[in-house]
Amino acid sequence: MSDTLHTLLTEDRSYEPTPEFRAQANVNDPEVYQRALSDPLDFWEGWARQLDWYEPWKKVLVWERPFAKWFVGGKINACHNCVDRHVARGLGDKVALIGEGEPNDVRSFTYAQVKDEVSRIANTLKSLGVSKGDRVCVYMPMIPELPMTMLACARIGAAHSVVFGGFSAESLHERINDAGAKVVVTADGGWRRGHVVELKRITDEALAKGCPTIEKVLVYERIGDATAYDKGHWDSSRDVRWSDVVPQQSVDCPCEPMDSEDLLYILYTSGSTGKPKGIMHSTGGYLTQTYATAQWVFDYKPDDVFWCTADCGWVTGHSYIVYGPMANGVTQVVYEGTPDTPDKDRFWRVIEKHGVTILYTAPTAIRTFMKWGDEYPDRCDLSSLRLLGSVGEPINPEAWVWYHETIGKQNCPIVDTWWQTETGAILISPLPGITSTKPGSATQPFPGIHAAVYNEIGDDVTPRHGALGFYNTAEGRQPDPNGREIGGILTIKEPWPSMLRGIWGDPERYYNVYWSRFNDAYFPGDGTKVDSDGYFWLLGRIDDVMLVSGHNISTMEVESALVDHVAVAEAAVIGKKHEIKGQGISAFVILRTGHTGSPELEKAIKDHVAMKIGAIARPDDLFFCAELPKTRSGKIMRRLLRDVAEGRALGDTTTLADPGVVANLKERYEHES
Ligand code: ATP
Ligand code: MG
Repeated sequence: MSDTLHTLLTEDRSYEPTPEFRAQANVNDPEVYQRALSDPLDFWEGWARQLDWYEPWKKVLVWERPFAKWFVGGKINACHNCVDRHVARGLGDKVALIGEGEPNDVRSFTYAQVKDEVSRIANTLKSLGVSKGDRVCVYMPMIPELPMTMLACARIGAAHSVVFGGFSAESLHERINDAGAKVVVTADGGWRRGHVVELKRITDEALAKGCPTIEKVLVYERIGDATAYDKGHWDSSRDVRWSDVVPQQSVDCPCEPMDSEDLLYILYTSGSTGKPKGIMHSTGGYLTQTYATAQWVFDYKPDDVFWCTADCGWVTGHSYIVYGPMANGVTQVVYEGTPDTPDKDRFWRVIEKHGVTILYTAPTAIRTFMKWGDEYPDRCDLSSLRLLGSVGEPINPEAWVWYHETIGKQNCPIVDTWWQTETGAILISPLPGITSTKPGSATQPFPGIHAAVYNEIGDDVTPRHGALGFYNTAEGRQPDPNGREIGGILTIKEPWPSMLRGIWGDPERYYNVYWSRFNDAYFPGDGTKVDSDGYFWLLGRIDDVMLVSGHNISTMEVESALVDHVAVAEAAVIGKKHEIKGQGISAFVILRTGHTGSPELEKAIKDHVAMKIGAIARPDDLFFCAELPKTRSGKIMRRLLRDVAEGRALGDTTTLADPGVVANLKERYEHES
């Protein structure tokens, strides 16, 4: 980028927390920001003290850039804190997990039952040769046994590496070998859109490609159909049936006291920008921050029913299904299948049936629901909801407002949470009892987090703001005289407890990707603007930013203007080589149900963008399509659209949800434009 981002789209709606919400919120005193700012280590230490430790830490933080150690010398076990601790304080009968299968089967587990089952799984893993320090690959459907297997690993000090159940044999093979896993835990299959995903068969295929470190495969019978085994190959020296071993195990399995810095897990990023990275998270700091952020951002109360719709194959499932919520002793829904099975109202049926009070989902899902139409949520009782969350991509203001009105009935605060696999926990988000929200903005850094906006050459250009006062103390920064918005590169200036500890097997890449860009801050790779209230507006990845006639324009802003048009459900834009402007804007647009593409509509949509944000952002070409290439976690892969638009061979497509989508798109694009 040649200069800082021009920020074009203006959004001036603002939503205050209601007095009722504010009054009952876990945190409602804005002073927390100032307190955390004045002594961040003390702030985090206060949270760590709420957890059970076998031995206290000697030092809160040792920071030798780029390596941080938190709660140094402390001994702790994550599973103990997520399970045993609650049973010990009399909450054994509280429901922990409500597992709803896609075929409508419901299996619930109380915290006491989770403790027993996790202990049996842990003893099974031990009997299969797993010990402290080993890696276990978990390749399972979204059933309660998935989080319980993760906790079983944590219990005995083995690191889990969860691979999303939608990944191919190739991706599984790569991840098993990269992590050097000793055991794979899988299932005969899982349900997805009425079909069985044959996880065991895919595992066989992955192992057949050569996985020298794998000794055993533990297979949970989810489908329960003997023929499912026949579809795979059963190697009795390697494969172990869950039902043959787990139920027989003792429920007595002590938690392994782990060093605060011991590896808790490895998780591969979703691959939106390139080859996935094996992100490493350690125990004490990670648990402390997932616990803290979950409690304040999601405002848990004893009676809440929390539903995070992510899969445990993504970091969202790690931090906000397993560790954060369970460290808080929350009741949760775990849903196996897709939102359109048997019908497009499935999510709303789940909410109605289980009385979900807090929903945490992704913009890609929200835009899909908008496209399907209001009739689906409107036919269900959503009155149990009291708080809504969003994560994974910037949420377009129109989608935010739809979420607020159609799902939240204008009654639920929305927490738009910015974070990454690498950050381990939420770093930028509203606190629902304090923050006035603005559609499309993740608002403020969480207390104790020092986020900033840098320009190209590494100057901190964060505007000073008065609202909460926590930018005012940064050294040497001049207040912005006009109070205008500043766009640039998001950075995090101080280490935080749940930060990644490295990339598995590749310390050089760890340094290069995150720490070489600026010498005094972490570089997440995202662009942001900060307004005069100090609110952060995430603009997507720096790599996706377009350079049009010398102006940097974020894909996010143009996409939001497109989605703002009544006919548009979803949009992706990219910069495409342009002789005069350097780059022109190419838009890929999915229409809402009931609209069809035409030259008139194309013109109207382009005009709408020009009207919303200015002529400079008017798309040069606009292509109607039925689907967009997305990662399996639902993020738009703009780099592939750039390949399509510029007529190149497609780059790495292994993390795509459906490689057919981009292949079709390429063919049609080349044919029609
Ligand atoms: P890879 O790093 O392999 O390309 P990825 O970045 O998509 O994959 P994740 O760690 O799952 O993998 O996603 C984190 C990214 O998602 C962030 O860097 C940001 O770009 C985007 N993101 C997540 N939450 C938000 C949010 N609330 N607002 C804006 N962007 C978000
Ligand atoms: Mg990333």
